[in-house]
Amino acid sequence: MPLSDNQKERLRQILLRDYQHESHRIDRLQSGSFGQTRTDTLGELSAYDQHPADTASEYYERERDQAAALEGKRQLRDIERALTELAHKDYGSCVVCGKEIDFSRLLLVPTAVMCRGCAARYGHKRNM
Ligand SMILES: [Zn+2]
Repeated sequence: MPLSDNQKERLRQILLRDYQHESHRIDRLQSGSFGQTRTDTLGELSAYDQHPADTASEYYERERDQAAALEGKRQLRDIERALTELAHKDYGSCVVCGKEIDFSRLLLVPTAVMCRGCAARYGHKRNM
């Protein structure tokens, strides 16, 4: 059964909420208060003593945050694509077999582009 307008609206709300949530997370990861606090803490520490271990873990945390921010941006693009498709009525069909993707699956993964069967066969990436 094709998605009803109500179902589409529900999915649109989920996508918009995810989008907001994700952009805020990226903001925090990239700069914002976290980075500031971290630099201050680091500055105080090195004023008293040198802590190479602390500096290294700071560095890795920052690297990890950057990687998480990149992954987040990829998700934002997926969400944007899903929202565009939702507006143009070509949303919710499997890109492999063309069948309609179950509404229950779309509720869990609104950016899904494959049905359950194809996703299981062709890989288990989150959005596939
Ligand atoms: Zn399929």
